[in-house]
Amino acid sequence: MTPHDSRRADLVRADKRFLWHPYTPMQRYIDEVDPLVIERAEGARLYDVDGRSYLDANSSWWVASLGHAHPRLVDALTRQAARLSHTSLAGVTHEPAARLAEEIVAVAPPGLVRAFFSDNGSTAVEVALKLALQLHQHEGQPERRRFVALDGAFHGETIGATSLGGVEVFRRPFASVLLECVHVPSPASGEADDAAYARAFAALEAVLAEGGATIAALVLEPRVQGAAGMRVHDAAYLRRARSLCDAHGVLLIVDEVFTGYGRTGPMWASEDAGVRADLLCAAKGFSGGMLPMSVTLATSRVFDAFLGDPERAFYYGHSYCGNPLGAAIAREVLAIYRDEDILARARPKAQRIADAFAELGELPGVTRPRSLGMIGAVDLSASASYLGGAGWRVYDEARRRGAYLRPLGDVVYVAPPLNIPDADLDELLDTVKQSLLAAARPKG
Ligand SMILES: *Cc1c(COP(=O)(O)O)cnc(C)c1O
Repeated sequence: MTPHDSRRADLVRADKRFLWHPYTPMQRYIDEVDPLVIERAEGARLYDVDGRSYLDANSSWWVASLGHAHPRLVDALTRQAARLSHTSLAGVTHEPAARLAEEIVAVAPPGLVRAFFSDNGSTAVEVALKLALQLHQHEGQPERRRFVALDGAFHGETIGATSLGGVEVFRRPFASVLLECVHVPSPASGEADDAAYARAFAALEAVLAEGGATIAALVLEPRVQGAAGMRVHDAAYLRRARSLCDAHGVLLIVDEVFTGYGRTGPMWASEDAGVRADLLCAAKGFSGGMLPMSVTLATSRVFDAFLGDPERAFYYGHSYCGNPLGAAIAREVLAIYRDEDILARARPKAQRIADAFAELGELPGVTRPRSLGMIGAVDLSASASYLGGAGWRVYDEARRRGAYLRPLGDVVYVAPPLNIPDADLDELLDTVKQSLLAAARPKG
């Protein structure tokens, strides 16, 4: 055994003995899984303890939009850590939080003028839900307590966010204690035809027409439902949803935790679609994969309703609200987007993804190739499900070839860093193709 072998074995032993992994059937994990043991990461690559590299096809669960260990982010973190790592925001402010609020509002879609910070995507959504509920009380409509979300929706892990979730296996254990949420058909529910889209819109229209006066908000992942399996829908759906919300006094919350920061091409998917949200949630790319941090952006209508009597205030705030480390990084992320022209330089990369995935659709067993911005996806079965196993065979093949290609069940996708070098991107796209081919070949 080399020293590396024993180091690897030691870490895996501790891991399998003590660690509980997210979204992981632990019995199977402990019995069968040989985990990647990652030691460092740089750019679009993860390196394991043996020095092998893996292209990070999903930006480490969609957060590392600027790749790993961007020198400016590392520098911003260390500089801020030496000055001020944390204070509360209770009667206190500091440069990172105050400036970040100013800077995020400046790049936010028009109308979103206040920034409330929290810790991750789930809490950004939780904040939005609570703001929506309390806003309606302030406006004299306390009966607006229900939410509407799409089938297959994913908005995070808190009970509030889980209530919105439409992935059945994630939701089922908690179904009896969740907030009331009506799920409507996804506009991207399968057959990519106009009829499916029209049905989805008609269903939303019917729900709002019937129960509109008791609905607090419609919550949407704009343009693409990520965890649902990279299901893409048309901007027209969002615009029509916005006007229905207006007609029925329902707030529109857009969850841009995945779609924000250029993942779909433009900075914000909702803004590009021509939709003005009442509340917008951002996380993941927001802090570039360095630290967990998020923001919920609100319009002045929302903010103003909480002014006046102290009883109207929003009594909510996490210990790490506005954390200076996270805020300093989030500011640097915005500066890098500006200085390195990240969105414009991602455009030709997005085109490479689109071209490559269109071709993948020709492979045996591969269906519904699709792409949007820096996302490409295919399905491996007609009824792609989260618990499907086909994607994992591709995962194994890709791992052998030096890529970390975690699937969403039967959906194989890439969502690499927006600044992935072209050579790495081409290698990744070729690895996806080779892995799909290898996984489709009958064994032995
Ligand atoms: C990941 C995600 C969340 C949850 O964010 P966390 O930081 O994991 O809590 C919420 N909404 C969407 C659309 C997401 O993709």
